[in-house]
This record gives sequence, structure tokens and C-alpha cells, in this order.
Amino acid sequence: MAYDYDDQNIFAKILRGEIPNKTVMETEHSLAFEDINPQAPQHVLVIPKGAYVTFDHFAAEASDAEISDYVRTVGEVARKLGVTPDMASGYRMLTNAGPDAHQEVPHLHVHIFAGAFLGRMIDVPKQR
Ligand code: 5GP
Repeated sequence: MAYDYDDQNIFAKILRGEIPNKTVMETEHSLAFEDINPQAPQHVLVIPKGAYVTFDHFAAEASDAEISDYVRTVGEVARKLGVTPDMASGYRMLTNAGPDAHQEVPHLHVHIFAGAFLGRMIDVPKQR
């Protein structure tokens, strides 16, 4: 099945500079910026600059250069935030894909949450 990328999604607009963002880090292939509605004291989103909907889409179709840049950027952002376990008490990274995961923006993003105890991994509600 082909992935259908909507270039009107909010992160595509951020990448085109049509909407402002609070940039944490930018590389050739990736951008990290603060989440507009933080769910933890520190909440940063890391996106690839390429048109990928989900992590599986990215893994299937991105170039090796994009993949290594993105993976290294996620790690570097955690380090830049000062939250890695060698410096602080850690962080959580998470990426949602599709409706069951409640993905709101159809452009791949990894969330990095930190700055407080984040509880157990996942809380599955009884209803949507
Ligand atoms: P998802 O539910 O797709 O995993 O997460 C989407 C995230 O994007 C949410 O945490 C939401 O707060 C964030 N978000 C939505 N619109 C904007 C925006 O215009 N700017 C920023 N910085 N974050 C946004």
C-alpha cells in the first residue's frame, strides 16, 4: 500500500516556514521544536524534513542519510535538553501512527517528554 502524504498538515507548514515554531535543533534532514501543548515540563517534537507520514513509512522509504540524521537528532535533542540518564533522571520518546494511536498530525514525529516522573508506559482507555 502506498503512503498518502498530505502536504497541508501543520508540520509541513512549519517546515515551509508558514507557521512559526520554537526550534530546539535543526540539521540537514531533521527539525526539533517545542510542542505547542506540552504534556510534560519538557516536551519536544522531532520530525524529519522529508514527506513521511509514520515511522514505518520513514523506515521503508527514507534514505540512509535521512535515517541516520533523524536517529542521531533524536538522541542529540535529549542530550541538549539535559535529560539523558547520564545527566538527569531520563525521558520518554514516543511516536504515534494512525487512528488507534491517536495520531493527530500526519507527518512523522517523535515526542520527547521529560522533566517529571512520567508514570508507567501506557494507559489504554476503555473508549476512544
Ligand atoms: P500526535 O497526537 O499526532 O502524536 O501529536 C501531535 C502533537 O503536535 C501534539 O502534541 C500537539 O500539541 C502538537 N501540535 C499540533 N499543532 C502544533 C503546532 O502548530 N505547533 C507545535 N509546535 N505543535 C503542534
